[in-house]
Amino acid sequence: MTIYLDYQASKPVDGEVFEAMKPYFQEKFANSSSLHSDGDIATKALADSRKKIAKFINAEKDNEIIFTSGATESNNLAIIGYVMRNKKKGKHIIISEIEHISIHNIAKYLERNGFEVSKVPVDFYGIVRLDKLKEKIRDDTILISIQYANNEIGTIQPIAEIAKIAKEHNITFHTDAVAAEGQISIDVVKDGIDLMSLSSNDIYGPRGLGVLYMRKGIYVNPIVIGGGQERGLRSGTEDIPSIVGMAKAAEIAQKNMESESKRLIELRDILIKGILERIPKSHLNGHPKKRLPNNAHFRFDYVEGESLLLSLKDEGISIASGSACTSKTLEPSHTLIATGLTHEEAHGSLEVTMGKWTKREDIDKLIEVLPNIVERLRKLSPLAEKEKEVD
Ligand code: PMP
Repeated sequence: MTIYLDYQASKPVDGEVFEAMKPYFQEKFANSSSLHSDGDIATKALADSRKKIAKFINAEKDNEIIFTSGATESNNLAIIGYVMRNKKKGKHIIISEIEHISIHNIAKYLERNGFEVSKVPVDFYGIVRLDKLKEKIRDDTILISIQYANNEIGTIQPIAEIAKIAKEHNITFHTDAVAAEGQISIDVVKDGIDLMSLSSNDIYGPRGLGVLYMRKGIYVNPIVIGGGQERGLRSGTEDIPSIVGMAKAAEIAQKNMESESKRLIELRDILIKGILERIPKSHLNGHPKKRLPNNAHFRFDYVEGESLLLSLKDEGISIASGSACTSKTLEPSHTLIATGLTHEEAHGSLEVTMGKWTKREDIDKLIEVLPNIVERLRKLSPLAEKEKEVD
């Protein structure tokens, strides 16, 4: 068995979630659009699930929840759907420099299609600069999209303050809450959120399902057009087993959030202390406190993240050096670069993300093996050698 410390990339489906989904594959298989009694069972499952997800984020109305195929689609529907619907009001949107790649690529698509996008910088810890956000607002700004928390370095944004700034300027506010959901309590009303993307797998539900929360009074154009399901905003036969699964996952997450987050924060802080104390020239990326309970992100001078994770693989530890969504590029993480790190520093990073099944022994093992790995890799590093000569 490996020690799995890459929960940001993928989470197992919770056993209870899997059980809740099972009947909807075979016995309760009907289409929720069918008017017969079998169809009624699916319709009820859909309505109950919508209610549970609405409760999870404290949405005022169940119909503010729209099911999609995942957070990527929710981000597309929120941003492209919103700007297409509202482009007569203006063609300028604002995002942060450390958004998920799906948001950055949507922004590029919009730029190719006549919209203008401004990117707000972040500070050294990855917190959005509110002064710069205010500076970037224009008369033709129609949408601000800033993540709830960062999926790489775990920094939590001051979302309510950002939403307040948007509201003061009559601008709609979208947030990608994928990294935060299930770990910190999200209240869309209290936070002042208009549009919010969620993904099922990030709360131990099945993959391939997501949600867009759309506050009453906000309008978007559909981007998937067809039979008119989901109030015409997302056509296609609803995936009832997955929807039931996500709703169950939300229920469990809500019930356990406080105790589980407390447990993870303890493990996280033991890990951070252990690594920074034992490994010279090691650093924490992101904010020491305003960070997700399950995230510890390090960098080590003169060591490459990729060599680190391969050495850890040999020790039976599954870990990432950065976001799985951008692992196909050789470019350093845009998030780390935005926090002011050099390319070399960004390349020396290790992203530890814990989850429900992470135990104290797993963390102890990482603290035990990592110092030797870093030392061995540094011995092979020409950069470390050069530094020694200067010393
Ligand atoms: N946003 C963030 C912050 C993510 O980490 C991810 C990947 N889990 C996505 C969006 C895309 O989600 P999905 O794979 O469900 O489309």
